[in-house]
Amino acid sequence: MRAMFTLIDGKILAHEIRQNIKKEVAQLKTLGVEPGLAFVLVGENPASQIYVSNKQKACDEVGIRNFTDTLPATVSESELLKHIEGLNKNEKVHGILVQLPLPKQLDTKKIILAIDPKKDVDGLHPDNLGRLVAKLPGLRPCTPQGILHLIESTGINVSGKDACVVGRSDIVGKPTALLLLAKDATVTLCHSQTSALSAKIAQADIVVAAIGRAKFIRGDWIKQGAVVIDVGTNRLSDGKICGDVDFETASKKAAFISPVPGGVGPMTIAMLLKNTIEACKNKEKP
Ligand code: NDP
Repeated sequence: MRAMFTLIDGKILAHEIRQNIKKEVAQLKTLGVEPGLAFVLVGENPASQIYVSNKQKACDEVGIRNFTDTLPATVSESELLKHIEGLNKNEKVHGILVQLPLPKQLDTKKIILAIDPKKDVDGLHPDNLGRLVAKLPGLRPCTPQGILHLIESTGINVSGKDACVVGRSDIVGKPTALLLLAKDATVTLCHSQTSALSAKIAQADIVVAAIGRAKFIRGDWIKQGAVVIDVGTNRLSDGKICGDVDFETASKKAAFISPVPGGVGPMTIAMLLKNTIEACKNKEKP
């Protein structure tokens, strides 16, 4: 018999969040404050172009003023750094998002370091990541925040739960583990060198898959009744997008599971809008 599972619908949840942000933006505007976000797009990577265009649309919808600076793929590091410096100084810009990945000649870490941490709406500046470690206020990375929202939307209490995060990138896995730890989960952070991965996943009440390998995590590894969040965005040969979790089999074991697409993706964009408003309000604070 097929066990019942509940789909964690990131589209609905993200829509609700965007509606609230829209109201907040309108309110800020009545006070004469207009939140502004600058995108920096280097080169012509088609996936990056789509990501930026989706983020722009989301900004437009909620009334966040935004513009995109498009720079050639051949831009030098010093030119890009100078550009970021200009955005740091621009009073109308509350958030700066440099779309990753950057062309090879550019040192991504150096570029992120150049962004004013107060405008770092991606939450990837070491200052903000350090604040996350130290549990100090700061801008948190968007995808991990979205993941936490999805988990909490199930109504489960994260405190005391065993969580297994698979993937340790600075953008997704590592900050997600820290956010779960801050909520008092007991976190196992796995990666490509982890031994007995399936046994570790089998212990977990919460599984977050952020690997980048289609259908890698199988249903028979999942603990009955677990919450499963699938971050993976893998393009199959037929052009379809699929996650890191084998949804067919995992949904037979999980109590709650997020789909791909329509799970983490929309939440990431909603959190970017939220961070922009937060950066704007922090700046305007007396
Ligand atoms: P990275 O490639 O930076 O990191 C992948 C991680 O997975 C690494 O830590 C790697 O380990 C680990 N890994 C690789 N193979 C295995 C394996 N066989 N077993 C266990 N762990 C493994 O990817 P990102 O974190 O940037 O992204 C992960 C996925 O999430 C991608 O599919 C990406 O497209 C998607 N994504 C989706 C977003 C959204 O908004 N929906 C946003 C960001 C990412 P090691 O460190 O040892 O190499």
